[in-house]
Amino acid sequence: MSDGQRSPTTGDGQIVVTGLTKQYKNLRAVDDLSFAVQPGRVTGFLGPNGAGKTTTLRMLLNLVTPTSGTATIDGQRYADLTEPLRHVGAVLEASSAHKGRTGLNHLRVVCAAAGLPARRADEVLDMVGLTPAAKRKFKGYSLGMKQRLGIAAAMLGDPRVLILDEPANGLDPEGIRWMRGFLKGLAGQGRTVLVSSHLLSEMQLLADDVVIIAAGKLVRQGPVTEVMNSMTQGGRVRVRTPQVEELTVALRELPATVTPDGQGGLLIDGVDAPTVGRAALGAKVELHELTSERPDLERVFLDLTAGKAGIR
Ligand code: ADP
Repeated sequence: MSDGQRSPTTGDGQIVVTGLTKQYKNLRAVDDLSFAVQPGRVTGFLGPNGAGKTTTLRMLLNLVTPTSGTATIDGQRYADLTEPLRHVGAVLEASSAHKGRTGLNHLRVVCAAAGLPARRADEVLDMVGLTPAAKRKFKGYSLGMKQRLGIAAAMLGDPRVLILDEPANGLDPEGIRWMRGFLKGLAGQGRTVLVSSHLLSEMQLLADDVVIIAAGKLVRQGPVTEVMNSMTQGGRVRVRTPQVEELTVALRELPATVTPDGQGGLLIDGVDAPTVGRAALGAKVELHELTSERPDLERVFLDLTAGKAGIR
């Protein structure tokens, strides 16, 4: 087993945010935010641009001082962790390094500064698949390679918790696929992975849990499937029938709202597809189509968050 696959041992791996608030002059960037992030799972920290994600992550890492509230990693505030790099690794923006330095030397410098053995530099480069580029200069690295180097640096202390701010930004589809597999792999080893993103579609593919914020406030949190299901409840039913009038009459018995779809079919709100089917059967109405339509998730996400973020 390589170091990268070693099961992490430090701390309980939880991230706990309680009543966290950051006030900038007239703007409350983060507003009484509380959520918890569990080990062994990838958690998507989701919200439109300006929602307060980066500010929250920076407070977690003691880079911004909260106005009030607390944020802990492994049960302690970042500032109180004795060896922070062994608890938490963070990738906040595309990594920067001395242009003329090789990727490997960059990591060795970080190791030396953090009191970690130099061999960790080789190990983490291998973990992120950068060994072939270890001796190439940083200035020749693509954005994807810089992202991998940033992740490698974050993994140097073999942390139980990994925090990444918009890691997919600017990556090509292959880079995004790699990132997804890599982060899921880390969660599979029992690590805590918190990834921010403004893209719901990305989180659907990556996250086990989501924490959704808008205008600095919590909107939803929970397992991604539950949150997505709750967001798309209240779908509608589309039917096509040669007996529109008869069906409309039959549906009057139900708490249903019936609207023509403009193409000869009907859209029915308020009842589910089986109920419509039973009503049609009872009225001996022939159906040519009966479909349950869920609202578009991306649309619901925008509705949930956009109005609030728009004022910033
Ligand atoms: P996100 O990461 O979700 O895009 P941010 O946390 O970067 O959101 O920003 C949240 C809000 O706080 C934005 O309106 C941003 O302009 C504002 N903000 C962030 N940092 C500062 C700062 N240092 N001073 C004033 N306002 C800030």
